[in-house]
Amino acid sequence: MNNEYLLKNLRNVPDFPIPGIQFKDVSTLYKDSKSLRIIVNELYDIYKNKGITKVVGIESRGFVVGAALAYKLGAGFVMCRKPGKLPAETRKESYMKEYGKDTIEIHTDAINEKDVVLLHDDLLATGGSMLAALNLVKQFKPVKTYINFIIELTGEGLNGRAVFHDDTEITTLLRI
Ligand code: AMP
Repeated sequence: MNNEYLLKNLRNVPDFPIPGIQFKDVSTLYKDSKSLRIIVNELYDIYKNKGITKVVGIESRGFVVGAALAYKLGAGFVMCRKPGKLPAETRKESYMKEYGKDTIEIHTDAINEKDVVLLHDDLLATGGSMLAALNLVKQFKPVKTYINFIIELTGEGLNGRAVFHDDTEITTLLRI
């Protein structure tokens, strides 16, 4: 169920970064102590009994709640980053964006076959970036994967969920 308090505190920025995009600015949720607490506590309730051992945050807005949730779950936190940012050996996954190709990376020693992994990002639009992150995490052959977003965009013909064909469970706190 949508949390009215979170909805009220989420800033919408029209025409950012390009005309026509309604940008959901989670910085207004992150800066508000009550919103941040609601988000982390709600996610903790969803995932506390799933045996999560690693939370993977997607650069960069996925780092904020991802790390707080990992702490609360007693799990480790892993950064999924843009190319060239991680200093040690990495695994990579490339994917197509609207304009051209993009690549993401995770350290090769960040996840192992005993891990139960929760991937987290702030927002689901087309699902392209999270699908790439999921494919990357699956290279590590973890026991199980889960996916979470704070916000799921459901309008304008978007159906980001549909790109995830396997049995990975997806949760979102706000559907807009
Ligand atoms: P996608 O790969 O299309 O699901 O896009 C998701 C990523 O792009 C997330 O990391 C979001 O932070 C960002 N994003 C895409 N659309 C929006 C939007 N309307 N408002 C805020 N962030 C967005």
